[in-house]
Amino acid sequence: MKGYKMTINEVRRPPMTPVREEKEKENKAEKEKRLRSMAYDDEEVKPNVCRICGAILKYDGLGEYKCPDCNHSEYDSYGQVRKYLETHPGANIIQVEKGTGIPRSRITRMIAEERFKVSNGKVSFDE
Ligand SMILES: [Zn+2]
Repeated sequence: MKGYKMTINEVRRPPMTPVREEKEKENKAEKEKRLRSMAYDDEEVKPNVCRICGAILKYDGLGEYKCPDCNHSEYDSYGQVRKYLETHPGANIIQVEKGTGIPRSRITRMIAEERFKVSNGKVSFDE
């Protein structure tokens, strides 16, 4: 292609400046806006009936729902990701998606909501 130039080197991160703090405030507002506009089919589906005995589940904290009759536990998306990370510390988003079957969009959403965090590509949660 005549006249075509690679532009990848032109894309550089902006230098760190004192306006960074302002920018971060902006980013936070942007993030909240983005969260509100995210697709609603990403909404959490909370388990409410025990699939073993049909009793109404009781929320037990950290995404876990316990059956008062047979003690069976069900987990919402948060609980499933958390449970997976407990046994697979250091997993990345793709591994979490594969391991839990929860769509990446919902995992990303939970990260945006700061229910999980990502550092060096590894998903984790606060104790
Ligand atoms: Zn039950």
